[in-house]
Order: sequence, then C-alpha cells, then structure tokens
Amino acid sequence: MAVTPLSTTDDSSRSIPATLAAANSPLLGQSLEELTAWVQAQGQPSYRGKQLYQWLYHQGARSLQDITVFPKAWRQAMESVDVGRSTLHHRVVASDGTVKYLLKLRDDQVIETVGIPSAKRLTVCVSSQVGCPMACDFCATGKGGFIRNLDVHEIVDQVLTVQEDFGQRVSNIVFMGMGEPLLNSTNVVAAIRCLNRDVGIGQRAITLSTVGVPGRIRALAAEQLQVTLAVSLHASNQPQRLQLIPSAGAYPLEVLLDECREYVQLTGRRVTFEYILLAGLNDQPTNATELTQHLRGFQSHVNLIPYNPIDEADYQRPSEASIRSFVAELEHRRIAVTVRYSRGLEENAACGQLRASRQ
Ligand code: SAH
Repeated sequence: MAVTPLSTTDDSSRSIPATLAAANSPLLGQSLEELTAWVQAQGQPSYRGKQLYQWLYHQGARSLQDITVFPKAWRQAMESVDVGRSTLHHRVVASDGTVKYLLKLRDDQVIETVGIPSAKRLTVCVSSQVGCPMACDFCATGKGGFIRNLDVHEIVDQVLTVQEDFGQRVSNIVFMGMGEPLLNSTNVVAAIRCLNRDVGIGQRAITLSTVGVPGRIRALAAEQLQVTLAVSLHASNQPQRLQLIPSAGAYPLEVLLDECREYVQLTGRRVTFEYILLAGLNDQPTNATELTQHLRGFQSHVNLIPYNPIDEADYQRPSEASIRSFVAELEHRRIAVTVRYSRGLEENAACGQLRASRQ
C-alpha cells in the first residue's frame, strides 16, 4: 500500500518554498547547509556557517552577540536576528532531582518542559503544542484548551535548555509534555531530525507519545524514523476509552489498534501502549483480561501509569495492591509490562499542572 509520509500531509505544512522559509525563520532548527546558505546571503564567507552551527547547537549561543568568533561589526549589524531561543520563565527542582521548566516563547506563550536525571540518563520531556485540543478528561493540559502548534526551533530549544542547565548531555527525549505531537507532525518530525542530526541524539532514544490521530500513525511509519512509538490507550474497550478521550469517537479502539499493527509491520519496531490506571474504573481484573485479548500476539509492551491526581478531575489513583494484581494478570498472559511512576514534583507531577498552577 502506498503511504504518504507525514511531512507531506500535515496541517501545519508551509506553502512557502524551503529556501525562503529558511531565510525568514529563526536560525535554530536549520541544518548546516541552510545556515551556511544564510551566512552567505549576508555576505559572509561560508566557513561562518560551520561556526554558527557549532555555537547554536553545541555552545549555547542565545543570540548572535554571543558568538565571539564573529566580527564585532557584523554582530552589531545582525542585532535584530532571532536565533530562536526561548527564555526561562520559572524553574522548580523536585526532591528527586527532576527539574520542571516553564519556558516563555516569542509571543509570550508559556510551555512546560521537564528534565529527568537518573543514574545513566538525562531524559527530557518535551511539549509539542501550547495547550492541547484533545481534551482527555484526566489530563491537566487538556483541561486548559489549545493555543497553537510549536515551531521546530521551539521544540529543539527545550532540549538545549535542559542540556545547558544540567551541564550534561541529554540522552533521551520523550514527547510526553504538553500537546498532541501527531497534530503537529510536520514540525515534530523536523525537530526529531534536527535533534538527531544536529544535537546528536540517537533516534532510538526518542519516544513519541500519541493518543492517536486517524492515519497519522501509518504516515509516521512512512517517515522511516527509528523512534519508539508510544500510544496512549488507557482503556480496554471502546465505551470506556470514549469516556476518557473525546477524540476516540472518531477513531475507535479497533481501528487504532489496526493502525498500530500496520506500524509494526511497516517499521519492524514494537509499539508501547500507555495505560493510565484509574481506581475503580479501568484497573479491574476484567480490564486486564480485555487488554490481554487485544494485545495477544502483538509485538508490543504495556506501560502502566498510575494516575497523577489533578485538581480539575475526580479520578483516584489505585492502591499498590491493585496495581500489582493488574501487572500480575498481564504477566500471566505473557504480555510485556512495566509500571511508570511519574517522577517530579510531589504536587505537580502530571504534565501541564505546573503551567496551570502558575497562570
Ligand atoms: N498527547 C500525547 C502526549 C502527551 S501526554 C499523548 O496523549 O500520548 C503524555 C502521557 O501522559 C500520556 O500517556 C497521557 O495520557 C499521560 N497523562 C496525562 N495526564 C496524566 C495524569 N494526570 N496522570 C498520569 N498520566 C497522565
């Protein structure tokens, strides 16, 4: 079957020719070739493109003024050029070392980014949109509504910000912050390519989490990236999923699962299914059984996420005993399963909560 890649189908694709777009957009997010073309268009020798590239992606330049190898007169002439870095609006460190950032964008919108250190890793949880239109009932971001898609540089900037703040290389990226990445797929795919090619992060160390948008998982497969796809399933049957996720009405569970099967076939990569455990609602033995029936023979992995309470919803987090018995049921049926305990701020652990509490 012919599949159209995401980069040609997206909502936010630009109709301006690439070279023109590159000339007008912020420098961050552009490749070495594009940056070289840009410096040449400014009348500078081409080797300055390499310098610009190094300083943008590896030396933390936040403006052209920071690039001290550039001639002073040119730096002054270029004062108004926007490199594309966001500014720090607020920063909170949790007792376990997780750092949450609120970053302010050029239009004063604020997004949330999280840096999660562990023994061997530094993971960044990035946002793909300002707000989110999906309106999932358990999600703080969804309760706040949607404002706009993030641009490529606004996604790349989040990773650089965490890397610079920790003074340590970022090893992993998860698109699990604010927003639905597959509603902003052109920019998300371009940001993944930039983070891989220019920042040096392995594609296999990048996870894209989606609640599902019809046709977009198939289109993502056609991009031939090596990233891990995580799908927010959260329910073991369609009526229950619809209760939690309004967009499930236009994208029934069975159709979503079929598209995930195609993704596995097209990419040869297994899919992760995320499943929020909500006490008394989807954490019952019957749910575990239903889930195993859907996933039997499916090259996949289940990631259970005990619900992080948010102010705007009345769900409860299940007891440790019921989490354990849900895990046991899946393991009994030979389904690969792990439990993700959200790290971070005791009070603002769920994504979008810090932003909600500060606005
Ligand atoms: N829109 C994408 C990515 C953003 S959310 C998606 O839905 O996958 C990243 C993950 O956090 C999703 O699995 C989401 O369902 C989950 N999440 C959102 N609110 C949560 C909460 N209050 N407690 C636990 N997990 C939550």
